[in-house]
Amino acid sequence: MSGPKDRQMSKPAPSKLSKADQELVDAAVDAIKKRYRYDWQEVGAALRLRSGKIFTGVSLDAYLGRMAVCAEAVALGQAITVAGEFGIDCIVAVRHPPPDEKDRAITVVSPCGACRELIFDYDRNARVIVPGENGPIAVGIGELLPNKYSRERGN
Ligand SMILES: [Zn+2]
Repeated sequence: MSGPKDRQMSKPAPSKLSKADQELVDAAVDAIKKRYRYDWQEVGAALRLRSGKIFTGVSLDAYLGRMAVCAEAVALGQAITVAGEFGIDCIVAVRHPPPDEKDRAITVVSPCGACRELIFDYDRNARVIVPGENGPIAVGIGELLPNKYSRERGN
């Protein structure tokens, strides 16, 4: 059952993000708004390099599921290809709802486990914007990946 109270509760909480981090979310939203295709491009990502440059990417879904590439990886690939830089200050991914969820907004999503590894590999001090209890928050990649995989023993 939904009533006026439910609607009030689903209202987005005021963002706790800095202006720069909010701009990054907006860049990711713009990227997926522009390129959204049902079942093919559903997630957008934006990353800010330590130099301040911003790069975006969208997810590449594939008929063969394991060939799919996350939006974060595409954004990082863009940054390295175009700017030749890979120091990540902050990164965020957002999901575009499918057509049957028209009333839902584009929202911040957590990076998948593989992307957590990828982000950490390129910048262990990167910050990641993730969903928080009262709207998106920025956390360190290390907080999202305790006990990261390592080939070194006891490391
Ligand atoms: Zn991922």
